[in-house]
Amino acid sequence: MATLNDCRERDAQDPLRALREHFMLPEGLVYLDGNSLGVLPRAAPARMAQAVGEEWGRGLIGSWNEAGWYALPTRVGDKIGRLVGAAPGEVVTTDSTSVNLFKVLSAALSMVAQDAPGRRVIVSERDNFPTDLYIAEALCRERGFTLRLVDEPDALADALQPDVALLMLTQVNYRTGALHDMAQLSAQAHACGALAVWDLAHSAGAVPVDLHAGGADFAVGCGYKYLNGGPGAPAFVWVHPRHVDRFWQPLAGWWSHAAPFEFTPGYQPAAGIARYLCGTPPVLSLTALECGVDTVLAAEPLGGMAALREKSLALTDLFIALVESRCAGHGLSLVTPREHARRGSQVCLARAEGAYAIVQALIARGVVGDFRAGDAARGREDILRFGFTPLYLGFEDVWQAVEQLVQVLETGEWRRPDFNRKQAVT
Ligand SMILES: *Cc1c(COP(=O)(O)O)cnc(C)c1O
Repeated sequence: MATLNDCRERDAQDPLRALREHFMLPEGLVYLDGNSLGVLPRAAPARMAQAVGEEWGRGLIGSWNEAGWYALPTRVGDKIGRLVGAAPGEVVTTDSTSVNLFKVLSAALSMVAQDAPGRRVIVSERDNFPTDLYIAEALCRERGFTLRLVDEPDALADALQPDVALLMLTQVNYRTGALHDMAQLSAQAHACGALAVWDLAHSAGAVPVDLHAGGADFAVGCGYKYLNGGPGAPAFVWVHPRHVDRFWQPLAGWWSHAAPFEFTPGYQPAAGIARYLCGTPPVLSLTALECGVDTVLAAEPLGGMAALREKSLALTDLFIALVESRCAGHGLSLVTPREHARRGSQVCLARAEGAYAIVQALIARGVVGDFRAGDAARGREDILRFGFTPLYLGFEDVWQAVEQLVQVLETGEWRRPDFNRKQAVT
């Protein structure tokens, strides 16, 4: 079994080690929640101060042209495109993941309604992130479609019947960290005559993604998780070039117009992905997001997403091995797939009792993970969730996290009432 010294040795030899300097990590903290909110990029405070003080303060309205504000949604979109296998001009950053999903699902349903009106079903997983299901459910109600949910990934193939319009999946499951095979599932959707809509919230910046090779038709993703864009950072949207000019998206605001500054009363959608913009972009939030995306692009000279992926798997392998050897007999079970091809960049442990309190006790000891509630009706236990961002985590961090977990379990300190009091945000 690996020792603390082995972990230090691996850190010393880690070719990605220097990337940690791109972040402002609080001293002594082991942060395993970058899958929920990425760490502050070191460049962001000064860049934000400049955007506020100079661009807004002095440049005022002229900054739309002079400071490049107008191009921000496409400039940052192109940078994200490099991480997900999209060509320049195929991605824009705008709105939230929820809102972008509404736009792409609407456009996709309009396409299907025209091309194959008999198809009236959206297929997804009951374990998908709730906002994705809520948005799909709302649209189904409005447009007369049905949402068909499967309980296990194995059931997806059977659910893809001739009545299916769209397969809507999140590539990495937010609770379990299970990774779908995008190319295989998109191919299955296409073989049944349906379109494939992918949510990359837990995959952009976490695992290598190739939207074109993966056969995706539409994709959305999140800016504040592995892209380190800051709380509430704008999300992104991608539409395959063969579809993008076919339909309007329903939130056809003036920024999606072909010529927004001609102020014409009639709507004419912009060509390409710009038609998926809606209103005036949040310039300051986009400025922070660009700093976050730049932290991931900083890995490009060191092997990019492939190198980050290799380190991420090494970190999660080590965490799993240490937990299984050092926490045996404490009622934890591994939920995340062991198989590399099926694992994202997080590890989830289930426990029948005390998962929330154990996470709180770990946070008090400087190890930040999070808790996700199970579903007793479906035999799903509560989950302790640990995200591993290879940009700023090392092997010694993994060691320290497991060391604290051992302490929390062996002392039973998680039973303290203050660790069992639920807060508003878990
Ligand atoms: C984090 C996440 C979201 C977040 O949506 P918001 O609109 O930003 O709140 C959506 N979908 C998935 C799968 C996520 O993991």
